[in-house]
Amino acid sequence: MSKKITKYIFVTGGVVSSLGKGIVGASLGKLLRARGYSVTIQKFDPYINVDPGTMSPFQHGEVFVTDDGAETDLDLGHYERFINTNLGRVNNVTAGSVYLNVITRERRGDYLGGTVQTIPHITDEIKNRLKEAAKDNPDFLIAEIGGTVGDIEGLPFLEAIRQFKIDAGFGNVIFIHVTLLPYLSTAGELKTKPSQHSVNTLRSIGIQPDILVCRSSKPIPKTERDKLALFTNVPKEAVIESKDLQTIYEVPLALEKQKLAQQVLKRLQIEDTAEPNLDQWKEIVAAVKNPERTVKIAIAGKYTKLSDAYISVVESLKHAGAALGTKIEIKWVPSDECTDFEKAKEYLSDVKGVVVPGGFGIRGIEGKINIVRYSRENNIPFLGLCLGLQCAVIEFARNVAGIEGANSSEFEPETPNPVVALMNEQENVEDMGGTMRLGSYECHLQSNTIAKRQYNAGVIHERHRHRYEVNNKYRQVLQEKGLVFSGISPDYRLVEIIELPDHSYFLASQFHPEFKSRPENPHPLFMGIVEAAQNHSDKTTEMAIKSS
Ligand code: GLN
Repeated sequence: MSKKITKYIFVTGGVVSSLGKGIVGASLGKLLRARGYSVTIQKFDPYINVDPGTMSPFQHGEVFVTDDGAETDLDLGHYERFINTNLGRVNNVTAGSVYLNVITRERRGDYLGGTVQTIPHITDEIKNRLKEAAKDNPDFLIAEIGGTVGDIEGLPFLEAIRQFKIDAGFGNVIFIHVTLLPYLSTAGELKTKPSQHSVNTLRSIGIQPDILVCRSSKPIPKTERDKLALFTNVPKEAVIESKDLQTIYEVPLALEKQKLAQQVLKRLQIEDTAEPNLDQWKEIVAAVKNPERTVKIAIAGKYTKLSDAYISVVESLKHAGAALGTKIEIKWVPSDECTDFEKAKEYLSDVKGVVVPGGFGIRGIEGKINIVRYSRENNIPFLGLCLGLQCAVIEFARNVAGIEGANSSEFEPETPNPVVALMNEQENVEDMGGTMRLGSYECHLQSNTIAKRQYNAGVIHERHRHRYEVNNKYRQVLQEKGLVFSGISPDYRLVEIIELPDHSYFLASQFHPEFKSRPENPHPLFMGIVEAAQNHSDKTTEMAIKSS
């Protein structure tokens, strides 16, 4: 039998950025997976940072972490959630990492005196990354080129995929161009011209798109579709509409209705008319769209103006909510405004649960500590994630264990009581990029704890991204005062989960459970907080009825 050939699908973007190319790629991945194919997805980012780990969430949204410890673009989170498959370092390639490899080789003398150039050296490196991501021979590799066609920095990537079509052989590569049809209210029309120009730009680089996916706020009339087909050389049936929808999880279903996957299969010369199995996915979408109840949960952080900074946390809450028939209404609480306890109280007065997510640096820390205190004292379900755990430990140390001035050495290097401190391995680290405790680590759960109940397992694996840890010198005293260390590293040296037993739900993890929640497998710790918030909601309603 001949070796299976991987088919490559390239996704480019036109007209504007933030079109949701990632969701389109992820949705197509889902539709192919639902037909039983193996799929991997890769993101190419044309910026010079070696990875997004050093970039501020204000600029680039969340940094998503894979099992193998890569700090990646947030689109990888969407990919994993849609195709329900773990990805890794090879699935995110930046221009910086491409140049770094080529320049390292040049310094080593590998080019034997040759002139090192964009074509072929940079483009070859890009093509090698594609092959690396496809080394396990998946049926499909979907590769998204970040940025917008026409950007100077994207050119080497477009040139590489243009060449790759020839390298991969006839019928093994297609191009999907995701574009925007802006709606002009004065004309009452969706305009196709920017998309025509963007396809022209692509064609001038030598790439003819096979399929157009058109983002729009309104249904696209037939006349506009026909016009696009005529001007862009894309067959009419391959001009696909992608309208704004209530939930991103509905996108695969909307694209399936327009036969996107069939168009892809046909153009890649695969004969397959089997129906996809989307039953569970449809149930999830129905649950998201028709919730039985709404529960308000606070997310308290410093990047609250940019919800992309916490996208995996938001999605994880939604996954658990969908599984429980509950819509999660998120209340964004700016932690830096809560440095006054009364303000924290005010912000949290109407929420049924609180999440304190990850973060770096001192800004907003005292506010977060107040938020933890209010949740602890008022029995409000609480979930702390990474920095959220560290704040919970500081709060407990100060206000329950009476450890004066307790703090993390990250925020106060000279603190008399560093209950959270730098790990030994981190002490001499100077480079900022890729040097934290990163990726998947084993954690052992203690008996008779909320953690054990939620996971229903003894050993778990979760993803990390941090430098600081609970300081072992304080473990005993904190434990004596009632803090439970319910998840511990296999060598007992690192605290991974803490909890409080006499509370509606008070749990925090040093890892980031949000990176492993999927619509089809909501994460047990998020199920825990949503369930507790729901119960809390019921109880408060009961109390209100009784007192009226
Ligand atoms: N700043 C903290 C640390 O480095 C927490 C990091 C995080 O929340 N991801 O340990």
